[in-house]
Amino acid sequence: MKTTMHPINNTKPNILVVGGAGYIGSHMCKFLVRHGYTPVVLDSLVYGHKEAVKWGPFYKGSMENKDLLGHIFQKHKISAVMHFAAYCYVGESVTEPAKYYRNNVSNTAILLEEMIKYRINNFIFSSSCATYGEPVDIPMKEDHPQNPVNPYGRTKLMVEQMLEDFHHAYGIRHICLRYFNAAGADPECEIGEDHRPETHLIPLVLQAALGKKEGISIFGDDYPTADGTCIRDYIHVYDLAQAHLLALEKLLNGFSAGHYNLGNGEGHSVKEVIRHASKITGQVIPVQIAGRRKGDPAVLVGSSKKAIETLGWKPQFADLETIVETAWKWHKAHPEGYAT
Ligand code: UDP
Repeated sequence: MKTTMHPINNTKPNILVVGGAGYIGSHMCKFLVRHGYTPVVLDSLVYGHKEAVKWGPFYKGSMENKDLLGHIFQKHKISAVMHFAAYCYVGESVTEPAKYYRNNVSNTAILLEEMIKYRINNFIFSSSCATYGEPVDIPMKEDHPQNPVNPYGRTKLMVEQMLEDFHHAYGIRHICLRYFNAAGADPECEIGEDHRPETHLIPLVLQAALGKKEGISIFGDDYPTADGTCIRDYIHVYDLAQAHLLALEKLLNGFSAGHYNLGNGEGHSVKEVIRHASKITGQVIPVQIAGRRKGDPAVLVGSSKKAIETLGWKPQFADLETIVETAWKWHKAHPEGYAT
């Protein structure tokens, strides 16, 4: 796929988007440009795609590269940093925790230290509902106990805690956004979801609809839910981007620190997702019932009342149909992802 760079003549501040070549980071970049900001992308391309960087200057490198960070901070007069560069495979975090603690925690500490050195005080962190662990109350609120059940969730929580300490000691202002299940794609189809390997339900179901997979395995149909399959709170990637923009403006206006859930407050079962996908794609999607996947809670649904009331967040793509439709448009146009 050829990359077309879009010219930018924006006047609002420059924002460093670490992980801007990834799924959520690339949608963020497009959203920032639309709203008058200029993204500057730093991405190692370990999981990101060069073809997804279409807005603003791009630097290939890791957030542990202090010289590169210093160069970017000086050259681009960065006002805030958005961090989308964590590794995010829960299963891999169990078998290779060192990789996760190094990238997600140590390298984030380096990034923050360089920010302090260059007096950049605004930080937006992609956190996760994985910091909560097993749900005690549904829908989960921000004050839900945080007892992550895997290394991935622990790395996210450690960064949240680090940010609190860095706020008190060095004045780093920050907003942690705890995502539920990010899904969907740019309705204009310029960018979309292309994880390698892919482990997420919606893209896998759509790959099955395209005939790229024989079908979909349902990980457990004996959960205590209406149809026996797990329930998740799917949230469109542009609704996440909108929340980041609101968080950014709150920080630029002097806000100091906060945590917000980002979900739709409504759950959908695995079978329901497959049913919607089948209807939208017009394809029969073969399913087989497999065993439960380790570490999957039966229900994960978040309350985003705080983000709605205090950030002014208004999700625009909340219904599952729209989420799956936008994802389908991308997958149909790019059956091999960015390689198409
Ligand atoms: N799931 C499934 N089959 C798959 C992939 C996922 O049944 O091939 C289920 C998974 O067990 C979970 C839900 O779909 O209940 C969403 O999983 P996903 O990996 O997309 O997100 P997670 O909730 O793990 O962040």
